[in-house]
Amino acid sequence: TTFQEMNLPPHLLSGIFGMGFDKPSAIQSASLPRILATPPQNLIAQAQSGSGKTAAFVLGILYRVVVDEPVTCQAVCVTPTRELAVQIVQNCLAPMSANIEGLRMRMGVSGEMIERGQGVGAHIVVGTPGKVCDWLKKRALNPATIKVLVLDEADEMCNESSHRTNSLLIKKAVPPTCQCLFFSATFPKEVLDFAEKLVGTADKILL
Ligand code: AMP
Repeated sequence: TTFQEMNLPPHLLSGIFGMGFDKPSAIQSASLPRILATPPQNLIAQAQSGSGKTAAFVLGILYRVVVDEPVTCQAVCVTPTRELAVQIVQNCLAPMSANIEGLRMRMGVSGEMIERGQGVGAHIVVGTPGKVCDWLKKRALNPATIKVLVLDEADEMCNESSHRTNSLLIKKAVPPTCQCLFFSATFPKEVLDFAEKLVGTADKILL
């Protein structure tokens, strides 16, 4: 398949080609038809770093998010580390959305502060489960408008009990219709159990 054959609007195609990608990678070909489906489908996918998984879920996020004012948070991506969250934003989300006017994104990692009574003020939050939960508890992040929840490197996440607990709390907070995209490099039994607890029934892509 080609990117042009997928259900992608012109501004996302230009983001893709602007990043120099001309053909979808294997994980992108396998996952994007489900990620972009109507109604949205949940997904549990196996993908190593370097496979192109970040662009797959970033496109999924950008496909669903509507730039609104006042800003509502519509997508949350959680990762096991602050460094990975920074990489997702810098290497993929920011360049892919460079031509989307008014789009606001925010890192949800330690050190990021929100003043009492303030909201996150972003359409997309990328961060660690702990910080995202903290913002949910403080009501800085309203889960009611979240349409896409991504878990990246979920096997790493699964290794740490606080990440597991916080991820499940985030999942409980978002609407039941929120699309859940779960990416993991490996699927030992405990990760599969975690995935099914989090995502429920989903198509599985095990490449
Ligand atoms: P990942 O860590 O799985 O997100 O893979 C990221 C790497 O894959 C980055 O170097 C991207 O520039 C590259 N990449 C992602 N999608 C494509 C594509 N369709 N064609 C070529 N390179 C890609």
